[in-house]
Parts: sequence; structure tokens; C-alpha cells
Amino acid sequence: MEAPEFPPVAAENDTAMMQIIDDDYQFIESLPAAMRKWKFVDRGFDFNVVSILGSQSSGKSTLLNLLFGTTFPEMDAHIGRQQTTRGLWIAPCHEAAALVMDVEGTDSKERGELHMNFERKSALFSLALSEVLMVNMWSNDVGRYQASNYGLLKNVLDLHLQLFQEEGCRTLLLFVLRDHSKRMTTAELLTGSLRKDMENIWSDLVKPEKFKNSSVTDFFDLEFAVLPHKEYAEDEFLQCVGDLRKRFEDKSGEGIFKRDYKKNIPADGFNAYASKIWETIMSNKDVDIPTQKEMLATYRCEEISDEVYQPVGEQFAVWRAAVASGQLVPNFGKRAQELIDGALAKYDSPASRYVAQVRNKKRHMLESRMMTDASSLYQIQLDSLSTSTTAEFKRQMKAFSSLSALDAAQQFGRAVTSVRDQCLSTFAEKAAEARMPAASWSFDDAQASLSTMLNDEVAALRSTTVKLMTEGFKDVLAESLGELVAEQINRSGDGMWDVIRSALEENVQNACSTVLSKCAHGLDASDQEISDWTNAVRAAAVGCVKEKMTESIRFLPLKMVKRFESTFKFDANRIPRVWTADTDVTALFMEARKQGETLLELYSHLRLSDDFAADPAAVILAASRVADIKDQYESDIQPIFKETLEIQRRNNAEFRIPLWVYPVILFLGFNELILVLTSPL
Ligand code: GDP
Ligand code: MG
Repeated sequence: MEAPEFPPVAAENDTAMMQIIDDDYQFIESLPAAMRKWKFVDRGFDFNVVSILGSQSSGKSTLLNLLFGTTFPEMDAHIGRQQTTRGLWIAPCHEAAALVMDVEGTDSKERGELHMNFERKSALFSLALSEVLMVNMWSNDVGRYQASNYGLLKNVLDLHLQLFQEEGCRTLLLFVLRDHSKRMTTAELLTGSLRKDMENIWSDLVKPEKFKNSSVTDFFDLEFAVLPHKEYAEDEFLQCVGDLRKRFEDKSGEGIFKRDYKKNIPADGFNAYASKIWETIMSNKDVDIPTQKEMLATYRCEEISDEVYQPVGEQFAVWRAAVASGQLVPNFGKRAQELIDGALAKYDSPASRYVAQVRNKKRHMLESRMMTDASSLYQIQLDSLSTSTTAEFKRQMKAFSSLSALDAAQQFGRAVTSVRDQCLSTFAEKAAEARMPAASWSFDDAQASLSTMLNDEVAALRSTTVKLMTEGFKDVLAESLGELVAEQINRSGDGMWDVIRSALEENVQNACSTVLSKCAHGLDASDQEISDWTNAVRAAAVGCVKEKMTESIRFLPLKMVKRFESTFKFDANRIPRVWTADTDVTALFMEARKQGETLLELYSHLRLSDDFAADPAAVILAASRVADIKDQYESDIQPIFKETLEIQRRNNAEFRIPLWVYPVILFLGFNELILVLTSPL
């Protein structure tokens, strides 16, 4: 007959009981929620686990319910034997501060081969987790080695040896002997005999060498509870159960739960641990408790670390967003420190219950994860602080650029130093404020590179200032020299170059002494720089002269012709010449031509130094151009020469009166002479 299903009492009725290993021996991952609901999850180590093993339908669930106020399903005598605990159930008992596990009974024959394995597996599981293991037995079975309980006991001792030999962990084996009748035997005899049986089983076990001579009590405390028949001696039964219950609830240290039995699984890691152990058992691997605990520690410490990190990560994200937009987090250092310290404290309290080596490692990882976040945020803030400081420096220096070039140069050093120093010290102040007190962060590098950045700015600004200043001098020179040169060109006199040369020297001298007295100090100029300036100013002055000269070249041919004419056509008193037969036109022409050509010489080179002829930069007119102008000049003056010769010839023809004419003139009178002379025309 198919076994009728047990009604799912647990969840709906808030009976606070749940299955952790189901009918198919699978682990059910529903404990964490239940632990929270039972308010067990925050208990740390402040709880015990008690399990019960024993044959099927031996009143185990009934007993647990009476002892711990749990509601494990009990077999209803009226329905039949098959209704019994399947798998493994768990329920809380606040009075005893315990998690109570009710385990499917042994000898569930109808479950076959699968169940045979389950017996051993559930015993191993219970042993790994429980401080107290109750073994439920019929009193009659004591001494009956063939009874299934003895097989179970052998298993328990064997498995315990596997599990805890390295740990040195004791477990309390609490034998509950059911249906005891004083008429058969006394409780003392019964328990004495069972104790002996245990010793025998222990000594028959195949033990590791080092435990060869050990006794069962080296690993177990053995206690006994002898209960009368539940039906036939109900009052006594209840009395005994009540006494036992008190012993479970006794927290004075004299009760059943003692410190020695601690398996040291924290409440918040219980599910993970139990699940891992079951997984290991099911995969038929050896359960190695230290490894299991280390795994649990790793798992839980990571979980705690993640939980603790979450709000920290969120806060860092908020800050990161602010920082990305160029803001600084006010008081970042102090706040980040508080955040990290708070998180570590939050980690420490639950993590303290796990294997020290693991929890310390995970703590270190958590800390460095947070420190990395904080440090990267700090770096970003340093960068934007550098950027804003540089911008502020530029802003302040802009005001400076409204000064005249000369004033700017004069005040340069002082202004730059004070603004730069102020910027650097503001940077240092803010960078120090953003630094976490406990961190070994340094802003030296950032400050150094900011300093370099500002110095680059200063250098750029300085070169602009120098350039403006030099330009300014050029303008002044162009004005003062330009006028003088123009005047000299106008004159184009012999001493032209001497005048220009000395004016140039004077101007250069003036400009340089201004630079020296006013700006050299402000710009902290080197000797080299001063000599460069002097050269630049001189070059500017020379340039200015050359420009003027070059400009005037287009009038040169005209000027030459004019000069030629003024020499050729006028005498020293600027009286126009009369071209008589006696006038030596050719000599005058040659002389005048030379005078014109002198101008060409005057304009062909800048004669600002003695060795101008060797200086290619002094050339104003290239040789070819000189030749062109000369040709032009020649072709301009030749017609004048010819014309003049013609005039002379005519003059001679008109005015050469033969000697014999004079007496005739005297004789005939002037009018007649005119008539004679004009008649042939
Ligand atoms: P379990 O399978 O070991 O959990 O056994 P149950 O608690 O379901 O009980 C099985 C049956 O035994 C029920 O009918 C109970 O009423 C009965 N029972 C409970 N306690 C005792 C006891 O101390 N002595 C006897 N003889 N029967 C009991
Ligand atoms: Mg049961």
C-alpha cells in the first residue's frame, strides 16, 4: 500500500519547522529565510544543534516535540506505521537556544537500498553539525547486538573518528532509552551495560595508530535518559521528559549543552556549511571538517565582505559622479576614512566567528578594495584640483596682461611669484584635506607636476611678455628713427649715413638702458638674454632704417636725374648755365653724371658699420638692380646731354658775329643789321 503523504504542516501554520533534506535526499536551500524568520541568524555562536537518530517509529518526533516544543510530525497510531519522518527536518527552540533536527529513522525498510545509504549519510551529517546527538533506543534492545541500533552506534563512532580526529572536538551522545520498565532491570544496570557495549564497539573499531589505545570517552561524553513507557506510565514519562527538558534549557553551564561540544559554526553560516557538508557526503567524498570550515569561512567572509562593501561602493559611485564633473568632495579624506572604518567594523563582528586566517585575508581584500576605490577617487580629485588650479592661475595672470608691455615686464617676476605661490599653497591645502588620515597617499608628485605645469605657463607668459616688450621697442624705434631717416633721405647729403648711424646708436642705447633698468630685474633676465635683447633691438633699429631706405628706392632714379640736372644745368650759385661756345658741356655732363651716381652709391648699401661692404645683410640694392638703375639713369640723362649740345650749337650759330660786322653795325645801325641777318631765313 502506498504510504499516505504527510500533510505539509510546516509553512502555513507557522509551526516554524522545515525540511532541509527532502524525501529524495536533496538539500533544500530554504534555510536562510527560515533562520531570519526564526530570528536565529544573528545569534552568532549562541546556539546549539541537537539531532536525534534511532529506528523508525520509536517515538523520536514525539520526544523532540515534548522536549523542545517543536511540531515535528508524529505517527498517528490510528493511521498506520508508514506515516513517519522522511528526510531531515529542522526547527528552532528558543528556550534551549537550539536548532533541533529530526532525522528519518533507521530501518525504513520500504525505502530500500537508497535508504541504507541515507542512514550512514544522515548520521555523518548529524555528527558534523550537532553538539548533542541523541540516540533513541528501546530499552529492550540494550545488549542486543543484532538490533539495528548497534549498527548505528558503530557507524556513529566510526564516522566521528573520521570527522574530528584532528579537531579534538567532543560530542555528547545522549542515549534515550524508551519504554523502560523497572520490573525488568534498573536504570543503572541498563546504562552500565550500554556504556560497556560502547566501550566494546570502540575497541573493536579499526582506529588510526595514534588512537589505538584511546577510549570512547576521549571523544564522547556519554549520558543517558531512561524513560518509562509513554502509554503505561504516562505521568512518570512526562515527569522524566520534563526533567530532561529543564536540563536542555539550563544555561548555567551545568546543563546538557556545554562549551566543549561547540562545533563553531556561526548561525549566519549554518546553511552554507550544512549545504556544503551534505554535498560532500552525497558525492561520497571524505568530509574534512577543517577544510569544510575553511570553505565556509571563505564563502561567508566573501558574502559578508560583499554585503558590507555594497553601501560603500554606492557612496563611492556617488562621489565618483561628482568628481567626474570636476567637483571636489568636501572633506573627502575624513569622510572616506569614516566610511571604510565603518565598513571594516561591520565586517569584523560577523566575520570574527570564522577561521582567522581566512577572515583576515578577506578583510585585507575588502580593505584594499575600498582603499583602491578611495585612492583612485583621490587621484581624480588631485587631477581636477591641478586643472582648476592651473585655470585659476591663468585667470589671475590675465589681469596682469592688461598692463602695458613695459609695465608687465617690469612687474613680471613679482606678480607671477605671488600668484603661483598662492595657487600652489591652495593646492597643497586642498590636497591635504582630501587625503585619508590613515593612508600613505602623497600628493608630492601631483604638486610637482602642477608646479611644472605652472612653470610652463610662466615660461609661456614670460616669452609673450618679452615678445610684447621687444615689439614695443620696435614701435618706438620705428617712430623716432623713421622720421630722422626720412629727413636724411630727403637730403641725401654726404653725411647722411653718419647722422643715421649715430641716431641709431643713440636709440639702441636708450632702449637698452630702459630694458636694463626697468625690465631686466622684473624678468630676472640673464646676461645672455640682455645681450639677445640688445641685438634684437639693434636688429629692429637696423630693420627700421633698411625699411625706410628700401621704401625710398622707387624715387631713386628720379632723384638721380634731379641731382644730375641740378649740377648740370645750374652753376654753384644755382644760376642756370648759359651754353656758350666756351662752356665745356662734356666736362659738366661728366661731373653731373657722377653726382647722380653718387646717390646710387649712397642708397645701395646700409652703411651702418665700417665693414658694410662685406655684410650681405647690408645690401639694399643688388648689383643687377644697380646696373638697371644705372642704365635707366643713363638713358634719362643722355637726351639731356644731347639736347644741351644742340642748344650750345645753336647758340653759337646765332651769336657768333664776324668781326667785320661790328663796324657795319656801328655804320648802318642796329635795325639794318637785323634785316641783313634775317633775310636769308
Ligand atoms: P518516530 O518515527 O520515531 O518519529 O516516532 P513517532 O514519534 O512518530 O511515534 C511513533 C509512534 O510511537 C506513535 O504512535 C507514538 O504515539 C508512539 N510513541 C511515542 N512515544 C512512545 C514511547 O515512548 N513508547 C511507545 N511505546 N510508543 C511511543
Ligand atoms: Mg518521526
